[in-house]
Amino acid sequence: MSDIRAEDEVVRICQELIRIDTSNYGDGSGPGERVAAEYTAGLIEEVGLAAEIFESAPGRASVVTRMAGEDPSASALVVHGHLDVVPALREQWSVDPFGAELKDGLIWGRGAVDMKDMDAMILAVMRDLARSGRKPKRDIIFAFFADEEAGGEYGARYAVDKRPELFEGATEAISEVGGFSATIGGQRTYLLQTAEKGISWLRLVAHGRAGHGSQINTDNAVTRLAAAVTRIGEYKWPIELTPTTRQFLDGVTELTGVEFDPDNPDRLLDQLGTVARFVGQPCRTPPIPRCSRAATSTMSSPNRLRPWWTAGRSRASRNTCWRSCGSLPVPVSRSATFTATSRLRSRLPETWWIP
Ligand SMILES: [Zn+2]
Repeated sequence: MSDIRAEDEVVRICQELIRIDTSNYGDGSGPGERVAAEYTAGLIEEVGLAAEIFESAPGRASVVTRMAGEDPSASALVVHGHLDVVPALREQWSVDPFGAELKDGLIWGRGAVDMKDMDAMILAVMRDLARSGRKPKRDIIFAFFADEEAGGEYGARYAVDKRPELFEGATEAISEVGGFSATIGGQRTYLLQTAEKGISWLRLVAHGRAGHGSQINTDNAVTRLAAAVTRIGEYKWPIELTPTTRQFLDGVTELTGVEFDPDNPDRLLDQLGTVARFVGQPCRTPPIPRCSRAATSTMSSPNRLRPWWTAGRSRASRNTCWRSCGSLPVPVSRSATFTATSRLRSRLPETWWIP
């Protein structure tokens, strides 16, 4: 028996995970999860469990381990986390996003909330359990996936498709989100998630006239594209209520006495406080501008949309893209594409041509 408890090492594990940059840019250009997976596997093996690392693509590594339960006939439980994080722009941070600084009793860094914190908690509890020699009632499969932040194709999707035997006998899975409370009508309530939102990638393509950046060009593809994105982004989509959402809203009415008014849904949603943004979304199909591409280079950023200026790449020259060389930065791409998300997922992007 060891004296080390989960509480003693959870902060250190979280910090060490944050210090491993696993930024997921969604296009495979990030550092990948291999280093974090090896670190995680090391923690698992250190307490005598067998860890398996598998890669869906170079560097895109996930880790799985199974802790045997007392009753081998009982169904298994999956407890999973993800090792990747969304990118962090250093200039927008007051601390190093990968420094995992401990300040004011909090750990600061990318992934401190989503979800290296919970990864660390899972690992610390697992290690505590393994060290104590206590067995859980049923098998617990601990999984730490790659690529959660960009669709899961290289993480959970790959594991389920290619390595289903790792999850043999599992009937339930637990991971991040869910279980947090909201104060509605003065009462503490717990929200129940019944489904995950899907996405449908749409690609908008605008054409304009090619031209040198030093000259006036009133037929500009990027300008046209930006106008289309603005129109779609500001469009008020009709409210659609699924039976589940309807039931939820009825529950809120019960707690607050405020009736749902389809012409003014915000009146009821305002009762939800900080969770209104989550709950309001299932009522509509929101278009979310996510990624822009001008000429052949992509710039994906969570809070700004901008054309890419580089023209020096080989494919760019084929696209007759001209670089801005005057003092005024002018969007100069001949053809620009834009993708937006809405509710239903489809594998192939649908393309909208902007007239
Ligand atoms: Zn997450």
